[in-house]
Amino acid sequence: MNIEIVDVLVIGAGPSGSVAASIINKAGYNVKIVEKVKFPRFVIGESLLPRCMEALDEAGFIPALERKGFQQKFGAKFVKGEQITDFDFSNKFTEGWNWTWQVPRADFDQLLAEEVARMGVPVEFETEVTGITFHGTDSVTTVTTPDGGSKEIHARFIVDASGYGRVIPRLFNLDRPSNLPSRKTVFAHFEDPNRFLFDEPNRITIIAHQPDIWAWVIPFSNGNTSVGFVGNPAFFDQFPGSTADKLRAIINSNGYTAQRFSDSAFIFEPRTLEGWSVTTDRFYGDGFVLTGNVTEFLDPIFSSGVTLATASGQKAAQLVCRQLAGEAIDWQQQYVEPTMQGVNTFRSYVMAWYDGSLQDIIFSANQSSEIKRQICSVLAGYVWDTANPFVRRHDTVLTSLAKVIKLEAESVAGL
Ligand code: FAD
Repeated sequence: MNIEIVDVLVIGAGPSGSVAASIINKAGYNVKIVEKVKFPRFVIGESLLPRCMEALDEAGFIPALERKGFQQKFGAKFVKGEQITDFDFSNKFTEGWNWTWQVPRADFDQLLAEEVARMGVPVEFETEVTGITFHGTDSVTTVTTPDGGSKEIHARFIVDASGYGRVIPRLFNLDRPSNLPSRKTVFAHFEDPNRFLFDEPNRITIIAHQPDIWAWVIPFSNGNTSVGFVGNPAFFDQFPGSTADKLRAIINSNGYTAQRFSDSAFIFEPRTLEGWSVTTDRFYGDGFVLTGNVTEFLDPIFSSGVTLATASGQKAAQLVCRQLAGEAIDWQQQYVEPTMQGVNTFRSYVMAWYDGSLQDIIFSANQSSEIKRQICSVLAGYVWDTANPFVRRHDTVLTSLAKVIKLEAESVAGL
């Protein structure tokens, strides 16, 4: 069998893997990416958050991304019937990036993979990891190659950035169910000739359709826009026909989407996804670390996926380099705890969205501008800034504030 030797093997050429590989390569280690499929490939997750620019910057990807001309994103707009709340990232509480991009992921991920290859990291497509054995921190990974053969890759460390592939959790039985209920989406890309009537395309729109059903509207620079409805799987069963029939009917049942998309053509046949929330027993072990979606994916409502993927890829890569240089790393304290700080902050916001308390806050009539700035920081992905009370007390602050808003509304109504 063919044998290769590297310092670090990265599994998966999504944003998490490309960011990690670039940072490890810059530190002078011999790193390789293996990627199961051929790029470009479709993946959902098209709205980025400003916080992910820090990781893309450290990886050296920003100049190439700028040249590509993706749609710039300056904020997020929430719509519920006639109510509109617009968050402008330049008003956020935390210092840092005020903008990012809205990207068709096939193009975005391919560009990152091309860039990391240009920097000197071999990226092998159509190369699937099928087995791993560990000997202390050293490992031997078996991969299938595009010609139908197989080979072994010996590494001093593995970064598992395999996203929904979940390579190490599956091989070593580390998968655990999430504490969030299963949800479903029906989505497509649409032509969007009406976008300028809606004061876009330089932000995304989140539509609160029903208490637990919402939609994303993410315009791209090519004139097309991604639209998807998300919620309880039973919601979609009430609409008869094919996936396309269902999406068309749901679009027409919402005032905003009906006005903007009822006559718009699909760019591809609508698709569904279901049950994406999953987690794992542990994020690291002797000779490996999990990054991105392999650690935990919550829910798409706040576009947190790529930010958590790139931030964890960045953090893991920095620690891998320090460990390979001989430093003792406390992975629990230096990797898991900071990663979970971000994940758990978003988890509180996701839960508060679905139980309605965050929607009451976002759409409340008398908003404090300071509170709005603090929530805006979370929506921009700055979930590690514990100077922000809406990060530091994420598990209690939303429920308390929603209660105050409700009492105020009742007192105005004279109840
Ligand atoms: P991925 O992008 O999934 O990349 C992993 C790569 O690993 C893949 O290319 C895969 O082919 C490869 N791989 C898998 N198995 C193997 C193997 N055995 N061997 C080799 N390679 C392998 N996030 C956002 O930020 N914004 C959004 O608007 C957003 N919307 C979403 C909407 C929905 C409905 C869902 C479900 C998710 C959404 N997300 C969003 C989340 C986003 O899709 C992910 O968080 C993000 O893609 C994670 O990046 P990653 O690099 O960890 O993994």
